[in-house]
Amino acid sequence: MSEYKTYEYIWLDGYKPEPSMRSKVKATASDTAPDWSFDGSSTQQAEGGNSDCLLIPVETYENPELPHSLVLCQVQSADHSTHPSNSRAAAEAVVTDEWWFGFEQEYFFTNKNGTILGWEDGEPAPQGDYYCGVGANNAVGREITDIHLQACLDAGIKLTGTNAEVALGQWEYQCFGNGIKAADDLWVSRYLLYKIAEEFGVCVNIHPKPKTGDWNGSGMHCNFSNEEMRTNGTEALFSSMCDKLGEVHAEGIAAYGSDNDMRLTGLHETQSIDEFSYGVSDRGASIRIPVYTVEHNWNGYLEDRRPASNADPYKIVSHIVGTLTK
Ligand code: MG
Repeated sequence: MSEYKTYEYIWLDGYKPEPSMRSKVKATASDTAPDWSFDGSSTQQAEGGNSDCLLIPVETYENPELPHSLVLCQVQSADHSTHPSNSRAAAEAVVTDEWWFGFEQEYFFTNKNGTILGWEDGEPAPQGDYYCGVGANNAVGREITDIHLQACLDAGIKLTGTNAEVALGQWEYQCFGNGIKAADDLWVSRYLLYKIAEEFGVCVNIHPKPKTGDWNGSGMHCNFSNEEMRTNGTEALFSSMCDKLGEVHAEGIAAYGSDNDMRLTGLHETQSIDEFSYGVSDRGASIRIPVYTVEHNWNGYLEDRRPASNADPYKIVSHIVGTLTK
């Protein structure tokens, strides 16, 4: 038996508008994952002549069922300064552990040629039976979602549920966490989804509108709360928070993922991208005040429905907490 441990280093690259995920494996006798480096010229994070970038571990995930420990890293330049692609650093500076986040990650499964799973013979029957549906005509890719849920739970990532979504081949999972770790966990949950799907020869598409026409897009609703909202809330507090977010709506949209204009049309349970609104139980609003919050005497949470499925969760939590703590 080797004394070496193996660590799968995961990081975000320099691609725009959203980063892709990268990884490589280190075998070492070290009991913890040491700092490491990579060739930034191959990930749009450095020029060829000065290509070293640094991998600084921020969170390690142990799952005995996986071949390696997962090590989420942030990227630094060779001189140890924060790399321009590192959106985590700004989030970590503002987000404290009193902030709770629940992300609703929606996505589509596709074949390697880009066709949505279940759409190989052309456009399927209209939406209606697919949401939380069962049966071979109504749900495809379920096996992957079940394995993904268990892999996340075993790695200590709090997925709180999964469901088939409104379009065929579309799914959602919910990922809960506190503080910056909520965003870390969301990134690692995406990584696990990509990797598990890879074993099935299947790809994951997190574009907010893979199919135009009368088909739902994919979002990443962000439920959030802080201590005051949970335990000492009032209607005035929740309204003022919504108003504050509304004042910087354009900044929010800029932080909430590319091509979101294709999804936020005012149809398919969305508000139009140019409008800001909030309301109790309103799924056509930018921010929904859940009936739970009202029924608990204005102690609870808010749901920002604007973020797209491809958004960087570090930018989402930076925007929400940065705006509400100003
Ligand atoms: Mg959903």
